[in-house]
Amino acid sequence: MRQSDLFTKTLKESPSDEQALNAQLLIRAGYIYKNMAGAYSFLPLGLRVINKVNQIIREEMDSIGGQELHMPSLQKPDLWQKTDRWSDNNVDVWFKSNLKAGGEVGFAWTHEEAITDLMKQYISSYKDLPFFPYQIQTKFRNEMRAKSGIMRTREFDMKDLYSFCATQEQHDSFYNSCAEAYMRVFSRVGIADKTYKTFASGGAFTQFSHEFQTLAEAGEDIVYINEEKGITINEEVLNDVDLQKEFGISKEDLTKKKSIEVGNIFSLGTKFSEALNLSFTDTESSKKPVIMGSYGIGPARLMGTVVDLLSDESGIVWPESIAPYRVHLIAIGEDNSQANSLYNKLKEQDVEVLYDDRDVRPGQKFADSDLIGIPTRVVISPKSIEAGGLEVKKRTEKDAKIVTEQELFDMLA
Ligand code: ATP
Ligand code: MG
Repeated sequence: MRQSDLFTKTLKESPSDEQALNAQLLIRAGYIYKNMAGAYSFLPLGLRVINKVNQIIREEMDSIGGQELHMPSLQKPDLWQKTDRWSDNNVDVWFKSNLKAGGEVGFAWTHEEAITDLMKQYISSYKDLPFFPYQIQTKFRNEMRAKSGIMRTREFDMKDLYSFCATQEQHDSFYNSCAEAYMRVFSRVGIADKTYKTFASGGAFTQFSHEFQTLAEAGEDIVYINEEKGITINEEVLNDVDLQKEFGISKEDLTKKKSIEVGNIFSLGTKFSEALNLSFTDTESSKKPVIMGSYGIGPARLMGTVVDLLSDESGIVWPESIAPYRVHLIAIGEDNSQANSLYNKLKEQDVEVLYDDRDVRPGQKFADSDLIGIPTRVVISPKSIEAGGLEVKKRTEKDAKIVTEQELFDMLA
């Protein structure tokens, strides 16, 4: 991509009403546009990143038996009345609308009801189980506060997976493999070392659910950690449990930290299958409700977390795995012919490259490059040519080095 053609431009200032670091940087660097509080556009650069995040999530969900589908946002009230989740008194995040043809619809803030109802058509026997459908799909939530940039919006894509199992063993086994798959996702986007599987409030069927909490000052959550024992507990459950009895620790053994909930996994038991009548016949021909779980990740929240954690004073620092491009090629000087030729060779080798061919000062090109945060910067200038080639610098490193074209391609191989 030639930067002169990229329709977004870097900005000197971020909007004055934008408090969150993730959104400030992403707006300034041209990844996102704030349409209104809690609703952002993903511009070409931002879309490339979020697509890569989604692809990593897809690969990990597919690796544990997930099957992708896509459900509508529009929801009919009667389904949600059966689970007591239609009323605004019970659920405070609904967006709803009236149909011209009469009646009401809601915009899905989650999909347990929709998927459970759908599965009734396909599950009748234990032979039909287990099944692990998932989607990456828009959720609408009338969040009270939307001040964390892309980490808490009123319209966002969520990866939501639902598990349908015949036995508790089947469920527990999937629950654990999903927890492992989540950690692989967080590892691939470069935040595993700061992300903790955390005990969170459960539901009707289990004492705890698990959240994946990433330590960050920008976080809206608070967790208590004991590194030695590998135990992390959300503040919300701290007061309700006997720490000594459950975990063999006391509050003094725990360190308080701010964190971001990047994902969660939840055992639902038979709450939804009983309310919506999703059952199967087991090996003894007796009828039983299906055992369910739900598993969410917010890709944009994940992207915002990566920006928040890995950026420095000059801008964003993407890990290779989700960077919009691998190489930022910068041409300096009057004559772009060598840079043009390298750009074409990189494209031929399928290296994703953003090429700064703009007619602007070198200082601005370097500053923009740091702000945009592509992992490898390659400069061709009269100076680099005189020194024998290309000047290469990693975004994470201070010093550049001169390499030949061949050495560059070896590095990228
Ligand atoms: P929170 O406590 O932060 O509101 P939640 O408990 O409502 O999160 P879930 O309903 O379980 O979250 O959603 C699953 C995942 O979706 C979350 O772990 C988070 O990564 C993401 N998510 C939730 N709400 C939002 C939002 N408003 N904007 C962006 N991502 C979100
Ligand atoms: Mg919420």
